[in-house]
Amino acid sequence: MNEREIVLDFYKNDPEGAKKALARLDAGERGAYIIGEWYFWRHIFKLNKDCLIPRPDTECVVEKAIADLPQNAVFADLCTGSGCIALSILSERSDLTALAFDISEGALSAARENAEMLGLSDRISFIRCDLLSEDPLENRLFDAIISNPPYIRAAVVDASPDLSCEPRIALDGGEDGLVFYRRFVRDFAKNLKENGEFIFEIGFDQRDSVTSIAEESALSCKVTRDYGSNDRVAVIKKSV
Ligand code: GLN
Repeated sequence: MNEREIVLDFYKNDPEGAKKALARLDAGERGAYIIGEWYFWRHIFKLNKDCLIPRPDTECVVEKAIADLPQNAVFADLCTGSGCIALSILSERSDLTALAFDISEGALSAARENAEMLGLSDRISFIRCDLLSEDPLENRLFDAIISNPPYIRAAVVDASPDLSCEPRIALDGGEDGLVFYRRFVRDFAKNLKENGEFIFEIGFDQRDSVTSIAEESALSCKVTRDYGSNDRVAVIKKSV
């Protein structure tokens, strides 16, 4: 279903609501914000204007984590937004637990609601913090640190009207788009267990720069592609 069909399906028993929603769609609003939810993985996630709209390509991060995480693993999800990555992983693996972090209280309230709705609240905790300036991971150790951080170059966000409906802080990765990867690899590698790994979503053109960031910290980086054959998932770990 495309955006319009999803909105119409949401209002299938409410013709008046459908009419108003279509008018908002035609005026440039995004369907996900109009209906307050969106499809990702096998679920429908609640979201609000503080959340990025989940993209299908991000499901590759979920697939990688489900395949890689050892039995009874504990993972962190940085910049969790609506919680769609962490909650999709937990929904497939009943042995796992997670800590999820975000700077936005609005996004976290959607994430908590999604955790409740999926019956996963007992295996995930949500923590509000600024991951660029605080160290909420302290001395905790994780089997994986997962993130789809903001990674678009600031100038590209400025020049992309199609992104203007979404929260800028969920998209803008600074001047070169790499601010979050640099911070996470440099400062949170200490929070990985011996065989632990970072699993990051990256931009289609960030393979070489994210690999360099990993190598500067003496870590290895392996990048895999998404359904559209673009580089999308970076797995960073201690070199063997
Ligand atoms: N994949 C998103 C896009 O291309 C960006 C998401 C992000 O910055 N994490 O619009």
